[in-house]
Amino acid sequence: MEKRLRLAPSPTGLFHIGTARTALFNWLYAQKIGGKFLIRIEDTDFLRSKSEYTKNILEGLKWLGLKWDEEPIKQSDRISIHKSYIKKLLECGAAYRCFTTEDEISELREVQKKKGLPPKHDNRHRSLSKEEIETFISQGRTSVIRFKIDEKIEIKWVDQIRGEIKWQGKDLGGDLVLSRRAKGYEIGDPLYNLAVVVDDNFMNITHVVRGEDHISNTAKQILIYKALNFNLPTFSHTPLILNSEGKKLSKRDCVTSIDEFRDMGYLPEALANYMSFLGWSPKSGYSEILSLDEISEIFDLSDINKAGAKFSWEKLNWINSQYIKNMESIELIEIIKKYWDNNGWVPPSQEWAYKLTILIRDSMTLLKDAIDQSKPFFLLPPIQKEGQNFLDNNESKAALKLILNYLIKHNSEKLDKENAKEIINEISKMHNVKKGILMKSLRVAFFGCLSGPDLIQSWELLSESKSDISRIERCITTN
Ligand code: GLU
Repeated sequence: MEKRLRLAPSPTGLFHIGTARTALFNWLYAQKIGGKFLIRIEDTDFLRSKSEYTKNILEGLKWLGLKWDEEPIKQSDRISIHKSYIKKLLECGAAYRCFTTEDEISELREVQKKKGLPPKHDNRHRSLSKEEIETFISQGRTSVIRFKIDEKIEIKWVDQIRGEIKWQGKDLGGDLVLSRRAKGYEIGDPLYNLAVVVDDNFMNITHVVRGEDHISNTAKQILIYKALNFNLPTFSHTPLILNSEGKKLSKRDCVTSIDEFRDMGYLPEALANYMSFLGWSPKSGYSEILSLDEISEIFDLSDINKAGAKFSWEKLNWINSQYIKNMESIELIEIIKKYWDNNGWVPPSQEWAYKLTILIRDSMTLLKDAIDQSKPFFLLPPIQKEGQNFLDNNESKAALKLILNYLIKHNSEKLDKENAKEIINEISKMHNVKKGILMKSLRVAFFGCLSGPDLIQSWELLSESKSDISRIERCITTN
């Protein structure tokens, strides 16, 4: 039988890391077992669902490299089918109309609260007679459809991640509401637990992999599967993603949508690689830098942890920096050039762009670090305090004069690395100046401070962009 997995996002917000990680686990397992990965957009919350969120979710999946099979299904297209199943449940006596008003429910809650009991419906309309139903309808009362839950039943399943899970019928909050309120004998809009079962069955889903916040829903859904005589899929409940304090990751942790990760400068491959480790880890002997295809080969649902997975910026950053280091240079240049373009920075040549990219790539954690790292090659950096102190307190100005004279005398335009090294060596020997002083002075002239990228390679670049001499001159002429 074909193995079929799905992601069933509700388009009520931007594509969030929690949903993305669920998608990833589904995708990885589908690859691993040679199954299909499908999408169902659960857009039946009409007030909160938006088509731009659906677009954002699908684009985010594509960006992460999680391709789906088959055309995505829209749950809202299937409402009449969901209703027909509710009708079936009504007809076979597994469900019934409940006319309890909002006020009556609030009263019930209050009583339960006072007794310290959890909210639970008292199933008061389970056995209404035809006449009672008609009276309620003639009074203009609206009704929901409730699915009967046997208080004494124990629901059990073997979760692929958590092993055997048991749930007691009495702990499910009373008879389950399947549809929203409607007038007369109408059936209102179907709700999540009913729609998800009908749709998973329709899509022939064999493996449901979703967050642990759905465990109690699974217990309810299993009862609906049984009432409708549907085949049960296997269930897996993935751990939550936690912040550094061990609480559920939220917007307050500066992590929201996958878009934001992209805008922050994370590479999709790096983010996907990192997310795979959020709750799962490769078997020993494997590197932590793995492509999705490599992960899918060694991935198994049973290796996912039960405990929550702590989100670590440090680890994500490290993985991202590894991907930047190992990326094809051509690809990286194209990305970096976009940042330069946005700032109006024009490299003097393609080769120069290549050399600068190679020079800065090892110190980049995020793609957008390219802006700060390459800025001093396009714009003249101001002399910072430590740079000025160095110029004031040392023989540095004299050292810079020697370098400047040398460059003018030898008409040294467009130096390469070898020339640059030679100049330092020669001046050091000829004038008995320590190489360290020459280099540090140049560094201050070039970057305005005592730190920065490799000096000789930087000189080569600044020489080509014709700004090495002017940078040296400004240090000599200023007081
Ligand atoms: N629409 C549900 C959600 O986004 C789907 C849950 C499920 O996978 O069944 O949480």
